[in-house]
Amino acid sequence: MTETLGSALDVDRSDADYRRWLKEAVRRVQADANRSADTHLLRFPLPADWGIDLYLKDESTHPTGSLKHRLARSLFLYGLCNGWIRPGKPVIEASSGSTAVSEAYFAKLIGVPFIAVMARSTSRAKIELIEFHGGSCHLVDNPGEVYEVSARLAAETGGHYMDQFTYAERATDWRGNNNIAESIFAQLSLEPHPEPSWIVATAGTGGTSATIARYVHYQQFDTRICVADPENSCFFAGWVNHDPDASVATGSRIEGIGRPRMEPSFVPGAIDRMMKVPDAASIATIRVLERVLGKRAGASSGTGLWSALRIVAEMRRRGERGSVVTLICDPGDRYLDKYYSDAWLAEQGLDITPHQEALERFLAGAAWSE
Ligand SMILES: *Cc1c(COP(=O)(O)O)cnc(C)c1O
Repeated sequence: MTETLGSALDVDRSDADYRRWLKEAVRRVQADANRSADTHLLRFPLPADWGIDLYLKDESTHPTGSLKHRLARSLFLYGLCNGWIRPGKPVIEASSGSTAVSEAYFAKLIGVPFIAVMARSTSRAKIELIEFHGGSCHLVDNPGEVYEVSARLAAETGGHYMDQFTYAERATDWRGNNNIAESIFAQLSLEPHPEPSWIVATAGTGGTSATIARYVHYQQFDTRICVADPENSCFFAGWVNHDPDASVATGSRIEGIGRPRMEPSFVPGAIDRMMKVPDAASIATIRVLERVLGKRAGASSGTGLWSALRIVAEMRRRGERGSVVTLICDPGDRYLDKYYSDAWLAEQGLDITPHQEALERFLAGAAWSE
């Protein structure tokens, strides 16, 4: 049926109070960024005669302690500018913890309630940090439930389900605007090999690897992107088999990374290579990191660093010079009763000693062994 109008229809929903609130909320988020400094690019020392430089982008120094500070800022700006986040209405997120810590901080900054939906296995320290920033935690038994429960809570409260696993890749400005990739390349500019041979990321949402890969391709660099995946994650198999329906039933032991389903923010086509890293090797690597740099990191940093060292070994074997970059994603003090606890390792049946010894031998000049 054709519609025939005798006169125009016109609905104006503009609301001066809401627009004032929105402007103030965006200003507060932007002002927070304006007060913040960039994170450091640390050198991880290797034997000088290898001619290979290894760098760690230390994302643990953000105000909320992880690379999720960048993501939370982007998601809040995206949600605000889309009109999705409304005064007085809660923001809800499905999270393995770090995102929720950062989002609780931004929710408090703009004065809206925040609810995190997380697996019951999330570290106690992260739950306390979320509560410290004024958020509340809704714990579920099965990590696969977090998406559904978040959507339901949002519907019940009239709030906004932030949905990092869908929106991480698009909320971030991948062309630049001081994203993590632009920052890494700016910090490498005076180094012997300013265009790294490889950048190794890990994947939770997949947003960080997507941003780095897109930026590298956009800038026409030769750098390759590797994603290191832990046990109990479907990303590796899904990527290798081109299977968007890949899934695993057990939750990842490496907090922040490894997912039960192929997340929409994970962009497989942008990635050159994936590695599956044993959890014991990831945890052994953060012990070695602590000895070398005097810094404790979360286990996902170990997953990335182990993979980066394996690439360094390969370059060394071929006599290639160059640089490799990976990330410190969050600090180790969140996991003292987990990755830094021998009792927890024993309970999990993880023996990190052979990996740790192999890494130490490698750093002392021996060939790589696994
Ligand atoms: C989220 C997270 C990652 C992975 O980052 P994504 O951009 O979500 O893929 C790695 N380590 C930790 C500790 C994280 O919280």
